[in-house]
Amino acid sequence: MILILLGPPGAGKGTQAKLLARDLQVPHISTGDMFRDHKARGTELGRQVDAIMASGGLVPDDVTNSMVKDRLSRPDVAGGFILDGYPRTTAQADFLDQLLVSLGRRTDRAVSYEIAHELLVDRMSGRRSCPSCGTVYHVTANPPRKGGVCDREGAVLVQRDDDKAETVGRRLQEYEAKTAPLKRYYQERGVLTEVAGTGSPDEVLATTKRALGRS
Ligand code: ADP
Ligand code: ADP
Repeated sequence: MILILLGPPGAGKGTQAKLLARDLQVPHISTGDMFRDHKARGTELGRQVDAIMASGGLVPDDVTNSMVKDRLSRPDVAGGFILDGYPRTTAQADFLDQLLVSLGRRTDRAVSYEIAHELLVDRMSGRRSCPSCGTVYHVTANPPRKGGVCDREGAVLVQRDDDKAETVGRRLQEYEAKTAPLKRYYQERGVLTEVAGTGSPDEVLATTKRALGRS
């Protein structure tokens, strides 16, 4: 299954993508995680995207598209994959469409997580993640067993630079202006499903799987 997860920053895409990847046994491809990994490794691409990400803007389409094209050339995507945070613009969606056509494949479903913007600010400001294994927590909604420390790795949790109050507003604006129109894009292609992003992560997972016919 080729699945796209849409939704504003903080909607729960990464959380659901990890759960769905486990249950559907397909890779989770997050462009945000890939860019953060480049930054952490200090690659040329990481240096190129650092300031853009810190400002809450979007990385240029050509840079993002070529990173995704490379990723989709790996053999582990043969049985399907979950895209989290990509595409984010109509140009990226067109690129993905053409790339999939050239591979003889197509998008099965685009799930859009729906949630009020007031809740998103709290989700982003409370988000903490493990720098070692990437597990994502929330300080109140989904806290680790021991405050500030990863359950799996024991590493001290960190807050993303772009989850700070100054940047969150810009990211929401970018979403509304550039990414929200993709709902209509996928609706016109008959593959869009809207899912409420509220409720516990397990409840959202159950709703998503029902919508995908995989419950
Ligand atoms: P969130 O999970 O909060 O939506 P992501 O981890 O997906 O955030 O993305 C973090 C940042 O990485 C974005 O604000 C943007 O700067 C960059 N980014 C990630 N995916 C894309 C994309 N598809 N196109 C352009 N920029 C992207
Ligand atoms: P996105 O990838 O869309 O930016 P995340 O999956 O990283 O979103 O979730 C953002 C924050 O909200 C994280 O701190 C996460 O633990 C928390 N979160 C995710 N899903 C839920 C949920 N259903 N209820 C409450 N908090 C959630």
